[in-house]
Amino acid sequence: MQFILLGEPGAGKGTYASVLIRKFQIPQISTGDILRSAVKAGTPLGLQAQDYMKKGLLVPDQVVIGLVKERLKQADTAKGFILDGFPRTIPQAKELENLLQEVGRPINAVLKIEVCRKTLIERLTGRRSCKSCGAGYNVNTGLPPKKAGVCDKCGGEIIQRADDQPATIENRLNVYQKETAPLVEYYEKEGLLKRIPCEGPLDEVLKRFEKASLAAVASSK
Ligand code: AMP
Repeated sequence: MQFILLGEPGAGKGTYASVLIRKFQIPQISTGDILRSAVKAGTPLGLQAQDYMKKGLLVPDQVVIGLVKERLKQADTAKGFILDGFPRTIPQAKELENLLQEVGRPINAVLKIEVCRKTLIERLTGRRSCKSCGAGYNVNTGLPPKKAGVCDKCGGEIIQRADDQPATIENRLNVYQKETAPLVEYYEKEGLLKRIPCEGPLDEVLKRFEKASLAAVASSK
């Protein structure tokens, strides 16, 4: 199964990806996570990406396409994968289509996570993660660490992403509208888009998401 998760920054793509990972036993490929690791490790890719990321801008298409191409060569993608945060522009979507056509593995469904702007801002400003193990928390949406500032899982320090600061959030949401939102129409025309309403209590939303993803898979066969 090949999925794309589409949604604004803060929509919760990472959280919903975990449902698909469990259900289909396939890896999540998050270009944001790959880029953050590269920045942390100070690799040439990280050095290229860090200024764009800090400002909430998109990293150039060719850089991101290159890293996705490399990632898709890895053996764990043989049964399928979940793309989280990629594609983010029409040129990225077209490159992806060419790439997957070459290997005969088309996208089965594009799952569009639908939440309103107020929810996005609440989720983004509350988002925290553990500096050591990467465990995710949210201090606004009922998922805070048990002890403020300390990871429940490993005792590590809880931090906020640099690009989750209010000024950068605004920028990222505007970039989404301009560069990424056109993908909704693009995938709708291809007959691949499934809109999933994701407002409400997390446990209910996760169940709804799981049901919708299974239905999308069934109808894609
Ligand atoms: P994310 O974790 O998906 O919100 O991504 C964090 C940041 O990484 C974005 O604001 C961009 O600067 C960069 N990034 C992630 N994925 C892409 C992509 N597909 N194209 C361009 N930039 C990306």
